[in-house]
Amino acid sequence: MTYYSLNNNAITATFEEAVVNGIAPDKGLYFPSGISALPTSFFEGIEQLSNIEIAQQAIAQFVGDEIPESELIKILGRVLDFDFPIIELEHNVATLELFHGPTMAFKDVGARFMANCIGYFSKGTKESVTVLVATSGDTGGAVANGFLGVEGVDVVILYPSGKVSEIQEKQLTTLGQNITALEVDGTFDDCQRMVKEAFLDSEITAHKKLTSANSINVARWLPQLFYFLFAYKRAKSKGKEIVFSIPSGNFGNICAGMMAQQLGMPVKHFIAATNVNDVVPTFLKTASYDPKPSKATISNAMDVGDPSNFIRIQQIYENDFAKLKANLSSFSFTDEETKAAMKSLQKDSKYIADPHGAVGYLGLKKFLMQHPEYYGIFLETAHPVKFLPVVQETLDITPEIPAQIMQVMHREKVSIKIKSYPELKTQLLKA
Ligand SMILES: *Cc1c(COP(=O)(O)O)cnc(C)c1O
Repeated sequence: MTYYSLNNNAITATFEEAVVNGIAPDKGLYFPSGISALPTSFFEGIEQLSNIEIAQQAIAQFVGDEIPESELIKILGRVLDFDFPIIELEHNVATLELFHGPTMAFKDVGARFMANCIGYFSKGTKESVTVLVATSGDTGGAVANGFLGVEGVDVVILYPSGKVSEIQEKQLTTLGQNITALEVDGTFDDCQRMVKEAFLDSEITAHKKLTSANSINVARWLPQLFYFLFAYKRAKSKGKEIVFSIPSGNFGNICAGMMAQQLGMPVKHFIAATNVNDVVPTFLKTASYDPKPSKATISNAMDVGDPSNFIRIQQIYENDFAKLKANLSSFSFTDEETKAAMKSLQKDSKYIADPHGAVGYLGLKKFLMQHPEYYGIFLETAHPVKFLPVVQETLDITPEIPAQIMQVMHREKVSIKIKSYPELKTQLLKA
């Protein structure tokens, strides 16, 4: 598969180059050229396939011959060793739980797949790769876990001191080995600014191969399309047309769902549910795209003022506004509405949702009011304990802490405190 830059179609890359470099030299996002639909027999017989078989057939063309099939299957076995259950909560309303992975956030699949691909490509090369990532919470843990012990890769995670939850901090500071946590005296925006500065600093890039691990990277973005195929496999027997509601921030997850649609998966419509960071809902109303600074909400993994993957969505629908609108609806919700949805899910369905999943639920309900004939699935992107304080306060309960989280709570935090860019630079040039 060839990838091209969305800034300039003439700039192309192999899968390996797209994964190892993350972003095109002109700072454009990579996009696969010429996607082929899977045969209809694949969708007709999907119930007979295991998750790994589904994933292998779906991702094969994007990897091409750059990773041998037997190796790819081994990688998928390591990436997908947990369940993706669908739970029906109401008539025509189900949730797809994506949080049963090691860090209990849906980013585990993408982070693990990317780590395994980089690990494969760096085998036999002398130069190690440094993965540099800023996190406001959930990404850091998933990346740390995915890359732990991968040979030839060092991971450096920047997080804002005192601004991530205790669980999130433990997940990214207690692993050791090839993972270094830098605790920044500042905000998430400061962390991100420092990371950007490092990527532009030739004194660093002359010595170190740097890459980023956010959903800009095709190896983190594309495997998310598996979720939609797994859900289709389970929901197909309902005999209804399916719509998906995805709680969205950077719009990587929903954009991967649209790739599953490009592969031929029958899906009627997508709903992008957002918090008050409403650039996309506004765009669908006005046809004018106006990025804004992000606002803080209780669904903070979606506090994004300029979603980086939206340009890929535009590309999928050929920059045709009418075509996009026919496939996508988008609604925004306040924190008050989100908390009310968490409460009604608890009361009416005995379901404990995290704030992100609750936003997805609200988006789905709003769409189904107009279209009651469809079967709706909303994605639950994090386990409620990942957002414990707001869940406790809103629902007046203390959810049980699952084993994979308890494990890290007993480990000792190890971080290096930094204040400014020169300190990050010193860290990166060390060793
Ligand atoms: C990252 C994240 C999202 C948003 O996903 P995007 O792909 O950025 O739209 C939603 N929920 C949770 C819990 C997340 O961590």
